[in-house]
Amino acid sequence: METILFLAHTEAGGALGKPALEALGAAAELSQTLGATLVAGLYGADVQCAAHSIATCGATRFLAVQGAELEYPRYATDAAACEALVRASEATIVIAANTSRNSRVMAGVAQRVDGCIDTHVTGAVDASGAVQISRWFYRQRIEGSLTREHRPWILLLDPGSHAPWTGDAGTVQLEQIEVSVSESLKRTTVKGFVTPPADQQTIRPDANLLFVAGAGWTKKQKDGQVHLPDAERLILDFLRKSKASLGSSKSLVDMSGENQASLGFLSHLNQVGQTGASPRHPKGLSTCCHGEEPHTVGWRFIGERRAINLDPNCGWARGKADVLYVADAFEVMSQVNQLLSES
Ligand SMILES: Cc1cc2nc3c(=O)[nH]c(=O)nc-3n(C[C@H](O)[C@H](O)[C@H](O)COP(=O)(O)OP(=O)(O)OC[C@H]3O[C@@H](n4cnc5c(N)ncnc54)[C@H](O)[C@@H]3O)c2cc1C
Repeated sequence: METILFLAHTEAGGALGKPALEALGAAAELSQTLGATLVAGLYGADVQCAAHSIATCGATRFLAVQGAELEYPRYATDAAACEALVRASEATIVIAANTSRNSRVMAGVAQRVDGCIDTHVTGAVDASGAVQISRWFYRQRIEGSLTREHRPWILLLDPGSHAPWTGDAGTVQLEQIEVSVSESLKRTTVKGFVTPPADQQTIRPDANLLFVAGAGWTKKQKDGQVHLPDAERLILDFLRKSKASLGSSKSLVDMSGENQASLGFLSHLNQVGQTGASPRHPKGLSTCCHGEEPHTVGWRFIGERRAINLDPNCGWARGKADVLYVADAFEVMSQVNQLLSES
């Protein structure tokens, strides 16, 4: 019989993040359908509150590795904590969220416990008694289904792939797993985070709308001039009013990286596409972007796609957008902002 370990780190403040709750939803569902044992393993500075919050998830044991040295992500200490949790749980299957913190260490953990790992997993189901997963290959262009006999098998579940676990909190008795944290594990010091101020934070994964700015915003317009300050004002005004998340095309973020005149608030983190991100939002609006294939690869999880382009023959027109407005994005967005101000 399989033993499934739900493995998670706490976020700043001690709670579990949404991706972790999604991984728990998948782990709880799979353990139920398989009739498998579910174990929860948590690591972080102090995991007690997080454990109480998932008390009714069906786990038979709640394992913890906690301490000040686990407050911040650091390869050596995180890998030691995860290894200890996998060993103590005697898990055959480990399900964790594909967060940057987990994905940095889990391949190494798989090596240490003589296990195997699959990343970018989107689902794990019971296929006639065998666990079958679905996962992406080649930047989310190919979806594969597979089973493995090797155990332990570590699965990193992509955020947004499963409904988050919900249930009542309760009281949990933690099983503390001791990990000796020698000085050599603490050679890396986390000095803090550098993040833009909240009002400049343009990447909002939970937003209803993804607004994408393409290189057209920086091109000469019908008066023969470039209108960068207008473009910046229109886009930032729209983001402030709509609370949309900001994506961009490779062409545009490359321009800012190469110090060409571009929109100052964009970085490579905003890039959507084959070599960029594949965000998940119910709706997307692309502006001044041609809609070339490597760019639209990143749109596969966007529910409803709309685009504004002057060119009726742009890539979006060839079946990639649900609605294409053949129009000047400067004019359209200025009217949209006007309407948002009035509403
Ligand atoms: C291996 C590889 C990987 C790649 N990966 C990615 C990736 O991950 N993401 C990505 O984005 N790209 C990627 N690319 C690049 C991609 O192919 C395109 O070159 C890029 O996305 C084009 O960006 P763009 O549409 O912003 O600019 P452009 O192609 O320059 O298009 C600008 C558009 O703006 C329109 N426009 C101009 N003014 C206005 C106006 N006033 N109103 C409305 N429309 C206007 C024009 O009609 C034009 O269609 C990749 C390319 C390769 C070869």
